[in-house]
Amino acid sequence: MGPACAFCGAALEREREIGRRDVCPACRRDLHCCLQCRFYDRNVHHECREPQAEYVKEKEVANFCDYFELYGRLRGTPTEDPKAKVKRALEALFKK
Ligand SMILES: [Zn+2]
Repeated sequence: MGPACAFCGAALEREREIGRRDVCPACRRDLHCCLQCRFYDRNVHHECREPQAEYVKEKEVANFCDYFELYGRLRGTPTEDPKAKVKRALEALFKK
């Protein structure tokens, strides 16, 4: 199964290179953004699993990141499961 838009769940084609100005054909939101990237992970530092990528503050709008790789999210998949949320809260407690 191919990638699906992180915003609306529409199927996306991954064959061609995604440019910074590309938008989802269904909802017209940016494709070249953190939320659509395979390295995006809410549960890690900077919400990105690529350690060399520059910190991107706006996760929902197109970025200049060199490491971007279209991934999207599968239809109906919640962006964060409750367990991960609890884990993150605990980690925050023990940090410092
Ligand atoms: Zn969309």
